[in-house]
Amino acid sequence: MSFQTYTLSKSSFLKFEQCAKAFFFHKNFPYLRDKISVDKQLTFNRGHAIGALAQELFPGGVDVSKETKNTTDAVTLTNELLSKKSKTIYEATFIFDKVLVMIDILNLENDKYFAYEVKSSLKVSETYLMDACLQYYILKNSLPNFEDLFLVTMNGDYVLEEIIEPKKLFKKRSVKKEAEKNFVFFGEKILAANLVLEKNVIPNISIGKQCFKPYQCDYFGSCWKNSNSADSVFNLPLAGKDLLFAWNESGVKTVGQINDETIENKLLLAVKNSFISSKPIVDLEKIAQLLLKIKQPVAALDMEIWSPAVPAIKGTRPFQQIPFLFCINAKNEQSYFLCENKTDNRKDFAIELIQQTSAYNSILVFDKTMEEQCINSLIGLFEELEDPLTTVKNKFIDLSDIFKNFNYYESSFKNNFSLKTISEALKLEVSFDKIRSGLEAMNYYEKMRSEDNPVEKQLLKEDLISYCFSDTKATYLIYKFLKELER
Ligand code: SF4
Repeated sequence: MSFQTYTLSKSSFLKFEQCAKAFFFHKNFPYLRDKISVDKQLTFNRGHAIGALAQELFPGGVDVSKETKNTTDAVTLTNELLSKKSKTIYEATFIFDKVLVMIDILNLENDKYFAYEVKSSLKVSETYLMDACLQYYILKNSLPNFEDLFLVTMNGDYVLEEIIEPKKLFKKRSVKKEAEKNFVFFGEKILAANLVLEKNVIPNISIGKQCFKPYQCDYFGSCWKNSNSADSVFNLPLAGKDLLFAWNESGVKTVGQINDETIENKLLLAVKNSFISSKPIVDLEKIAQLLLKIKQPVAALDMEIWSPAVPAIKGTRPFQQIPFLFCINAKNEQSYFLCENKTDNRKDFAIELIQQTSAYNSILVFDKTMEEQCINSLIGLFEELEDPLTTVKNKFIDLSDIFKNFNYYESSFKNNFSLKTISEALKLEVSFDKIRSGLEAMNYYEKMRSEDNPVEKQLLKEDLISYCFSDTKATYLIYKFLKELER
C-alpha cells in the first residue's frame, strides 16, 4: 500500500460527476459554497446517526476516525490494522490513484475483506451506486484480499417489536457486478478530474440542468447570482427546464425579452403577461366555484407528521409517517392536539381529530395530500373509526388548487406555490419564525420527546404548536383573501 497524497475524495469525485466547475470550486474556492440549509444539515445528522447504528451489525471494531487526527495517520493506522488482520474496522482509510476513501465498515470474513457503505435511505439511488462503485474501485486496487462491497440501506419491511434489531433493520446489496463493469470508467474519470486541477483554470460551464441533478449544486448562489433577478426567465412557472435553458442560451434572460411566438401554451402566455404587467391572473368564476363548496361553519386545519428513519414506536417501520400534531383555526376559535408522550398516541390523535372537527362543515387545508394520507393510515389502523375519519376527510377543501391551477397568480409567487411563499407574497399577517419546514418540525418533535427538562420541553412544544398554527392561520387568511376578491 503506498503513501500518496490525494487530490480527490468521494465527495469531490461526485461533484466532478455533476459539474467540472463545481468540482473546481470545491477544490479551489470552497468559501464560495452556499450556506448549508437547516434541512440539509438535519439530513447529514441523520446519516451520521444511522452510520453509528449500523456499526452494531459488526460490533467491536476499531474506529480509525476516532483514533487519528489527520489522513496520513488514518492511512497508517488502517495499514497497521490490516497487517494485524483486524476483524472489523470502521472508517478504514485508503488512497489510490490520488483518491481518498473512508469505508464505513470493513469486515474480515474467512480471510477476505468485505466493505459496507451505509445509507440512511430505503432505496439505492444512482448516486449511491456511483459512490459505492468508486469505493469498490479503490479497494480492489488497494487491498489484495478484498472481496466485495455492499450498500447497506434501511429495510422498509422491518417492523419494530420491543427493541431495535440492527440485523433486521438494515438490508444489504452487493455492488460487485456494476463496479467490475465500470472499472475503466472510474480510471478515466479520475484522470479527467485530475486534469481539470492541473490546468488550474475555472471550467467554462454555463448554468444548466446539471445545477439541479442529482442535487441542487452547492455553488448555486455564485453561478446563479445574475440569473436570480425578479424578472429572470427562470422565475416563470409552467415553461419547463428545456425551454427555460433554451431561452437563456439564446440570450433571453428576462421575461420581458421573451418573444410571444416562442410560447405555444396559452396559460404560459397569460403568466408571462402577468409578469410584465404586474397584474395578477384572477379567474373569478373558478374562485367562486370553490368558495361555493365551503359550508359554514368553517375552520382551517394543518397536521404535522414524524417519519423517523429508525422506528421509535412499536409496530412501525422505518420512515413510516406518524401524525403527531394538528391545529385548527376558525373565526374565533383555536384548538390543537399534540402526541406528547413516548407511547403510541395515534388512536388519541384520531379521536381528537374527529371530535375537534365535528362542529365544522368544511375544513380548509392547503395541499391535502399529506392530511389525506394520514387519515387513510389511521383508518387502516383503527377500522372502528373508518366512518368518522372518512367524514373528516370528506369535509376537506384544498385551497392550494386555486394557485396550482393558476386561477389566481401573481408574479411574486414566481414558480413556487408553497403556503409560505404565497402567504409572504400576499403579505398576509403570519410569521413563520423559528421552524421553517416540516423536516425542522420533525427535529423539534424528536427533541421534545427525548427532553427531560420540563422547561425545555415546554418551549419546544410551544414552538411546534406555534408553527402549526401559523400554517392554519395562513390558510384561513387565504380563504378570507379569496372571499375579498369575490366582492
Ligand atoms: S451552479 Fe451549475 S454551473 Fe455552477 S458549478 Fe454548480 S452545477 Fe456547475
